[in-house]
Amino acid sequence: MRGAFDDVPLTTLFPALSPAGANALNEVARRVDAARAGRSTADWEWFPEHAAFPATQPTTPIILGLEVIEHSEGGERLEFLLQLVWTDLGRLAVDAAVNVACWCDADHATHDVDALRLVADEETSLPEVFRAGAERLTGWLADPHDADHWRAQAGLPARWSR
Ligand SMILES: [Zn+2]
Repeated sequence: MRGAFDDVPLTTLFPALSPAGANALNEVARRVDAARAGRSTADWEWFPEHAAFPATQPTTPIILGLEVIEHSEGGERLEFLLQLVWTDLGRLAVDAAVNVACWCDADHATHDVDALRLVADEETSLPEVFRAGAERLTGWLADPHDADHWRAQAGLPARWSR
C-alpha cells in the first residue's frame, strides 16, 4: 500500500510500538518529507503482510519504506532508499542506501554505493534506528552529488567510460 505517512497504520505494522514511539516515527517522517519536497519521489509504501516476521523470506522483507528518485539529463538516475525491514534473524532494522545505475562491462543493473543498516535491539529502539537512518538519508539529500560522483566513490566505472 502507498500513501502519505499519516496514512501509515503504524500500530498494525509495529504492534509492539508504544504511543511515544509512534510519535517519534511521525516526527522523523515529517523531517524526511520536508527534505524530499520538490524532488521526484514515490509515496511511502508499506506491507501489512510483513508486520509479523515472515516464516519464509526470499528477500529482505520490507515493512515500511520510501524511495527518493533523482532524475537528471540523459536518463541518469539516482535512488535513495529508507526502509524498515526484518533481518534474517527476525530483528527489526533500518536500511538507508544510495543506488546508481551500473556502467560496468558486465551489467549489474544497479549498485548500492553507500548503505547503512542499523538493527533495533534491547539497547536501541526502533524509533532510534529509524531516526539514524533518516538522518543519513536527509544528509545525502542536503549534499547532492551526481551519480558519477557516487560511482567514483564506490570504485565503479563512470557512465561515459565505455
Ligand atoms: Zn556494475
